[in-house]
Amino acid sequence: MNFELTEEQRQIRQLAKEFAENELKPNVAEWDQTGEIPPELPEQLAELGFMGGTLPEEYGGSELDYVSLVLIIEEFARFSERAATLAGAVSCSLGRGTLEYGSEELKKKYLKPMAEGKATGATAVTEPHSGTDVVRNLHTTAERDGDEYVINGEKMWISNLDLAEWFLTFAQLDPDAEPAYQGTIAVIIERDWDGIETRVEKPITGSRTLSSGAVKLNDVRVPVENRIGEEGKGYKVLMTGTEIGRLACASRGLGVLQQCLKESIEYANQREVFDQNIGEYQLVKQKIANMRENYEAAKLLTFKLADMKDRGVDHAQQSASMAKRFTTNAAHQAAEDAVQLHGANGIAESSYSVGRHFRNSKVSKLYDGTNDIHTVMIADHELGYK
Ligand SMILES: Cc1cc2nc3c(=O)[nH]c(=O)nc-3n(C[C@H](O)[C@H](O)[C@H](O)COP(=O)(O)OP(=O)(O)OC[C@H]3O[C@@H](n4cnc5c(N)ncnc54)[C@H](O)[C@@H]3O)c2cc1C
Repeated sequence: MNFELTEEQRQIRQLAKEFAENELKPNVAEWDQTGEIPPELPEQLAELGFMGGTLPEEYGGSELDYVSLVLIIEEFARFSERAATLAGAVSCSLGRGTLEYGSEELKKKYLKPMAEGKATGATAVTEPHSGTDVVRNLHTTAERDGDEYVINGEKMWISNLDLAEWFLTFAQLDPDAEPAYQGTIAVIIERDWDGIETRVEKPITGSRTLSSGAVKLNDVRVPVENRIGEEGKGYKVLMTGTEIGRLACASRGLGVLQQCLKESIEYANQREVFDQNIGEYQLVKQKIANMRENYEAAKLLTFKLADMKDRGVDHAQQSASMAKRFTTNAAHQAAEDAVQLHGANGIAESSYSVGRHFRNSKVSKLYDGTNDIHTVMIADHELGYK
């Protein structure tokens, strides 16, 4: 067992840290207030290789190992959930399914521009009536018509809506398939095709910069060449990237933990109440100790998962659930404690980031599988039910 980073990994982390401190930290409070990010952010990230993730170089990727990906996402997430999400996107469901099951043309047409920060996409799975059970309960339909599919339905809570120029989406082709997910297809559709409407959901409690909302699909005609994988195997395309999606989500939780701890230490060492720094009080010490301990434990789960992926372990469902659930729970707890420790300043978002982390970390317990469903999956695995 070796917990040391390589020289290259240390350099990547340093580059990400500098970018985060110089480009994200000064702007993120305003981005969060407006829910808008500068449209050139993906290109700015791509110039430093941060959009290319684990994607092979031949498709414009940075061919990173997963440990390096975690390091980048963690540093970005100290300040900006959106930048951290963009840095992970091409390595997660959005890129991974296309990389494994897509044709050469699709990889060049959609993945390469995304890794170059020129035309990003979005993964459109969730629907208004179903999220957790969506692969078994898709209401979006596909009908084959010659060399095209005609897609109808609605997707909800789709992130990256402000920038996405294309969507990786899923529809039910065979309504009689048993189980239903054996009748699904995955396709890429372009935003400017006829029949597509989008609407960003506003206002929302947290994760405002993710630009999430609805995508309506009305008789959208999709050429058969834009299908990823085989007919009836859409769920495989989706599942391919989910464990990496959870790794990315856990990495964002690490960023929140790291930053809440750092800001809490600084505050505890300078804020005086009853003539002494609040860090001297035992209840404040307890919060700091909990944050530190949880940060260390969260790192172990997250980097263990990254290491498994670097070693080529294909199925790591329970490890992915544990990393996602533990880290996002710990991040939300740390953010709550950090707000409490800052007193009223904890909610002054123009001066302190802990209030924003508190709102965003709550939301991180909902997406990439709710933490409840991860609880169920961890236990089912342990009990031998799955
Ligand atoms: C900010 C944000 C960004 C998102 N981005 C995307 C995106 O880019 N693309 C996309 O496709 N989706 C996205 N989502 C959707 C997200 O994946 C879903 O919200 C999530 O899967 C949960 O689905 P749901 O909200 O429909 O909750 P439901 O599935 O309706 O669940 C409701 C409640 O029931 C609980 N529950 C459900 N089943 C069980 C069970 N078996 N046992 C115990 N409890 C259970 C859940 O934990 C939850 O508490 C995003 C969501 C948010 C909030």
